[in-house]
Amino acid sequence: MNIHEYQAKQLLKRYGAPVADGVVVMNAGEAEEKAKQLPGPLYVVKAQIHAGGRGKGHFKEAEAGEKGGVRLTKTPEEAAAEARKMLGNTLVTKQTGEDGKTVGRIYIEDGADIDRELYLSVIVDRSSGRVAFIASTEGGMDIEEVAESTPDKIATVTVDPSEGMTDAVADKLVAALKLDGKAAEQGRELMGTLYKAFTESDMAMLEVNPLIVMENGGLRVLDAKVGFDPNAEFRHAEFEELRDETEEDPLELRAGKSDLSYVKLDGNIGCMVNGAGLAMATMDIIKHYGAEPANFLDVGGGATKEKVTEAFKIITSDAGVQGILVNIFGGIMQCDVIAEGVLAAVEETGLNVPLVVRLEGTNVDKGKAIIDGSDLNVIAANDLDDAAQKIVKAVQG
Ligand code: ADP
Ligand code: MG
Repeated sequence: MNIHEYQAKQLLKRYGAPVADGVVVMNAGEAEEKAKQLPGPLYVVKAQIHAGGRGKGHFKEAEAGEKGGVRLTKTPEEAAAEARKMLGNTLVTKQTGEDGKTVGRIYIEDGADIDRELYLSVIVDRSSGRVAFIASTEGGMDIEEVAESTPDKIATVTVDPSEGMTDAVADKLVAALKLDGKAAEQGRELMGTLYKAFTESDMAMLEVNPLIVMENGGLRVLDAKVGFDPNAEFRHAEFEELRDETEEDPLELRAGKSDLSYVKLDGNIGCMVNGAGLAMATMDIIKHYGAEPANFLDVGGGATKEKVTEAFKIITSDAGVQGILVNIFGGIMQCDVIAEGVLAAVEETGLNVPLVVRLEGTNVDKGKAIIDGSDLNVIAANDLDDAAQKIVKAVQG
C-alpha cells in the first residue's frame, strides 16, 4: 500500500526527521484558513496523488492553469486560489500514464530556501537480502535518468540487519551526499531515523527526493514517498486509516476485500488460476503464444464457490478482457466447485467473450460433466499448452 506525501511526512516527523510544517486541505473552502496557520513568507501548494513528477506535470483541465502540481505562492490567499484550481482536476505526470490522476487532497507547506537538492531512498535489496540506502547528490530530478547517464553519482550502501544502522554506514552516505558541518551532523542522525522508520513500519520503499540542504545549512525532507510491504500489513492495523481508496485500482480493491490475489495488467486475456506458481506459468504460456494476460489472479488453494464467482465477476468487469482462460488444478480445491462457481458467475454476469476451461485433478470428471452439461459456450482444453493455444486463437480470431 502506498500513502500520500503528507502522510509519509507526518510519519517521518514522528520519528524525528526534519520536516516542514504543513496543512492538509480536503476542500477548497478550508484552504485559506488552513494556510494562515503557516508562518510564511512562502507557501508551497502540492497536489497529493500517489505518483511522482508532480512538479513537472500538467493538468488536463484549462481551469487548473498552466502550472504543474507543485506551486509556489506568497500569501495564504494565493495559496488557496491555487489549491482551488487544482482540487478535483486531473494531474498528468510521467508516472501517472496519460489518464492522469484526480487530485482530491492538497498539502500546503512552508516554503524552504533551497541551496542543494539531493536524493536519498531506502529499499529492500533482494540481491543482498538487506535494506539498502541509495544516495546521490543529483536530487530533485529523475533518478532513473541519473542512473542511466551518470551512474557513478549514485551510491548504494546496504545495512547488516544484525548491526542495524552504524556510524560507518551513516558516514558513507553523508560522504556520498557531500554533506559537511551542520548538515553532515543532521545527515548522520537522519540515516538512523530513516532506518528505524523503515524497519519498524515494514516499509517496502521510502524515497526522499529531494532531500535538501537549505540556505541556512540545515537539512529538510522536502518530498517523501512511502510504500508499505503488503505482506506485513497485518502487523500494522494503524496504517489502514492512511489508505486512500480513490488511489487504488477499483478491481484490485474489490479483489482485496474478497481475499483474492489479483493484479490488473494491460493485456486482453483474463486468467483465473489457483496457485501463484500456476498463475505465473499460465501468464508465461499466454505470452509464449503471442498474446498478453489481462491480469494475474490466484483464487487460492481452498477457494469456495462464492470466491470463484467473485473472481470471475472481477475478470469480466475489466473492459480490456476479450477472452478468459480458467486453468485450475484441483488439489485441495475440487474441480466441481470451480465449475459451479464459473457457471454461477456466468449466470449472473452473462458471457460475451470466449471462455476456455482446463480442469485437472480432484473430481475432474465431475467438473467437466458440470461444464459440459450447461448450455454455456465453453471451449474445453486438455492441458495447459492446449488451453493457451485455444484461448489465444479464440481472441485473435
Ligand atoms: P514531485 O517529485 O512530485 O515533482 P516534489 O515534492 O519533489 O514533487 O517537488 C518538486 C520540486 O518543487 C522540488 O524539487 C523543489 O524544487 C520544489 N519544492 C517542493 N516542495 C517545496 C517546498 N516546501 N519549498 C520549496 N520548494 C519546494
Ligand atoms: Mg519529488
